[in-house]
Amino acid sequence: MSKRDYYEVLGVQRTATDEEIRKAYRKLARKYHPDVNKEADAEQKFKEVKEAYEVLSDPQKRANYDRFGHAGGDGGFGMGDQGFGATDFGFGDIFDMFFGGGRRSNPHAPKQGADLEYRLQIEFKDAVFGKNVDVVIPRTETCDTCFGSGAKPGTHPETCSACRGTGQTEVVQNTPFGRIVNRRVCHVCGGEGRIIREKCHTCGGSGKVKRKKKINVKIPAGIHEGAQLRVAGEGEPGINGGPPGDLYITILVKPHDVFRREGDDLVCELPITFGQAALGDEVIVPTLDGRARLKIPAGTQTGTEFRLPGKGVPRLRGYGEGDLRVKVRVVTPTKLTDEQKEALRHFTRLCGEYIKQEQSTNFFDKMKQAFRGD
Ligand SMILES: [Zn+2]
Ligand SMILES: [Zn+2]
Repeated sequence: MSKRDYYEVLGVQRTATDEEIRKAYRKLARKYHPDVNKEADAEQKFKEVKEAYEVLSDPQKRANYDRFGHAGGDGGFGMGDQGFGATDFGFGDIFDMFFGGGRRSNPHAPKQGADLEYRLQIEFKDAVFGKNVDVVIPRTETCDTCFGSGAKPGTHPETCSACRGTGQTEVVQNTPFGRIVNRRVCHVCGGEGRIIREKCHTCGGSGKVKRKKKINVKIPAGIHEGAQLRVAGEGEPGINGGPPGDLYITILVKPHDVFRREGDDLVCELPITFGQAALGDEVIVPTLDGRARLKIPAGTQTGTEFRLPGKGVPRLRGYGEGDLRVKVRVVTPTKLTDEQKEALRHFTRLCGEYIKQEQSTNFFDKMKQAFRGD
């Protein structure tokens, strides 16, 4: 019987991405799963789909298949003498596939260590200017005493005889649909594939110890709240000689009493007196690393924003800095002396009609209209 092309089976292009292949497989596997589909050839189709997926989802097998076609499975992959097709087939596997359970994995295969996430709170100023920070990460490391084997020095872990080191036991059933193989985690070794008779005293047989490690992290100037820094290779150690995971540092920025950030701009509020607003003034405003002069023109309204170019946050990508934006707030005086009150009354008499005539004619017109109801 000639075999159909795997790409054809899954209905994908030869250039399909892993994601496209996975999607096509899930769709077809659902369609032909013998629990769902009672058509006579459903099981055969399901097998075909599964087989195609097993090859195309594995980069090495796929590359081999692309080069050699169906013959590419001979030898090398431990899948028997019929090329790719000789794998045992279990209906139970579909649940693994949909629920992300462990597929038939070799317990001795090298695996990458887990990634770690660490939240680091930094000062507002450090987010703006950057800083080198030492962080202490609690993480699991390979035990120095047994070098990760978990066995007492001088002894070695033994291969589990119940599962012959595979970590799994198989229950084979012959049914009218064919041979069904159910795999379970070996209960003798708990899926490890090996048994440690004499455990290492340092790590208690796990091969791992908890340690705190100090890592120097360079915080780039201009980093934002919530940004993640990746420190390659500083995650959990790899398993069976696999590479370590990565460390991800999530940045949390403490709020500042005076400044807040809007993108790469720094924003602050500056209280000024009515006199300064009306007559104009030159004032000193704080910047994050010092101070700057700001000219307030006569007749400045409350809420007016002044921009000091380049006094903001260095841009994380690219050159230059954001601006410092100073928003003025005209403060109404509250505790007045008799002399001040008299001066203000005098002032009010002098300009009593001023607002009405010059600035807010519209406002008073609208008010009048509102009271008349038209
Ligand atoms: Zn140990
Ligand atoms: Zn076992």
